[in-house]
Amino acid sequence: MQVSIACTEHNLKSRSSDDRLCSNRPTSCGSTVTNGGHAKCRTTAVLTHNLSQNSPQLPIYLKESTSRGTGMKYRNLGKSGLRVSCLGLGTWVTFGSQISDEMAENIMAVAFEHGVNLFDTAEVYASGKAEVTLGNIIKKRGWRRSSFVITTKIYWGGQAETERGLSRKHIIEGLKGSLERLQLDYVDIIFANRTDANSPMEEIVRAMTYVINQGMAMYWGTSRWSSMEIMEAYSVARQFNLIPPVCEQAEYHLFQRDKVEAQLPELYHKIGIGAMTWSPLACGLITGKYEDSIPENSRAALKGYQWLKEKVTSEEGRRQQTKLKEVHAIAERLNCSTAQLAVAWCLRSEGVSSVLLGVSNVEQLLENLGSIQVLPQLTPQTISEIDGILGNKPHTKKESRS
Ligand code: NAP
Repeated sequence: MQVSIACTEHNLKSRSSDDRLCSNRPTSCGSTVTNGGHAKCRTTAVLTHNLSQNSPQLPIYLKESTSRGTGMKYRNLGKSGLRVSCLGLGTWVTFGSQISDEMAENIMAVAFEHGVNLFDTAEVYASGKAEVTLGNIIKKRGWRRSSFVITTKIYWGGQAETERGLSRKHIIEGLKGSLERLQLDYVDIIFANRTDANSPMEEIVRAMTYVINQGMAMYWGTSRWSSMEIMEAYSVARQFNLIPPVCEQAEYHLFQRDKVEAQLPELYHKIGIGAMTWSPLACGLITGKYEDSIPENSRAALKGYQWLKEKVTSEEGRRQQTKLKEVHAIAERLNCSTAQLAVAWCLRSEGVSSVLLGVSNVEQLLENLGSIQVLPQLTPQTISEIDGILGNKPHTKKESRS
């Protein structure tokens, strides 16, 4: 199986094994990279690997950068060339529903000022109203389209049988609807919002390739797909010379670790899939706000979120909150809030390109953005202390081999 992997000049220079890797391989600048010949590549080179001949751990590292102005960190989305802020802003529950459009605009403006360049929505959020609100704000603010990344997710578009799922029809019509609501010509990433057993993989990959080739999207990704399904999409794309996905949206927080820590890293190394993670605070539970009661106006008190109320008051929810008290003690020692520590903990994970935040006011946003300052304090000792409290560290392939 052929895999194209972006390999920067920096990467080529920085690794002792680079020369072995790059020897006599063709590059995008037309030259063949030989030992010591990297200077010929001014920007990037594309190396073609044969997966079956390489170890899964490809020695490719894409560089994180930090904005001097805002302190925001930018990472590649998986091994694509798209640079996304390590913290993105999501619109689920909040935009077009829980919060006013004025509050949504304030939140987005503050996020953008602080270097957030990634905004996530979906056709299903608030039945399309989240996209409308997001689109109106973008238009009103007049931000350069090239300076930010918009992602939307397609699956649940409407009531009709044909308005749901990942058929070619719904992917194309669904995305057209999203673009109209967003008042945009294209989104940067279109996500398949879940898997669809009724749509053949080849049809999904062809439809995603089509919308990208039509200029309606730049990249595509998956959401809540298993590693097997992502790998299948990738294989189909390679088999038919179509466009493979670049990223998986996965739930990731202190109490939900398996997929992002034990499964996605292998896909990152093998086929460049990045992780864009969601619900870093488990819908607010990890802030400690549900310790004594359900505060008014909190997500668990909202109409339609009875499931969250039940979850946080369940036995498991209570157990998690007891553990959080110990996590909170670590946060106090680090002079930060539990929310900041929890978001920083997500950011530390290998292969995580961006963590999607959800906030219902500007104060929460500013607090959560502060997690970037907490990240350097997460020493291996602190991480293993947290692991000890949680008791849910997944076994990774690397560990089980040793
Ligand atoms: P989250 O961080 O787990 O929860 C966000 C909520 O927690 C906020 O709306 C707020 O709710 C509360 N909160 C946040 N910061 C707080 C703070 N510092 N102090 C107190 N409360 C705080 O994130 P999420 O909203 O569940 O997910 C983030 C984004 O991921 C979504 O907007 C969406 O774009 C994406 N997502 C994707 C999928 C998918 O299937 N692909 C699924 C879920 C989410 P209240 O103030 O109302 O209590």
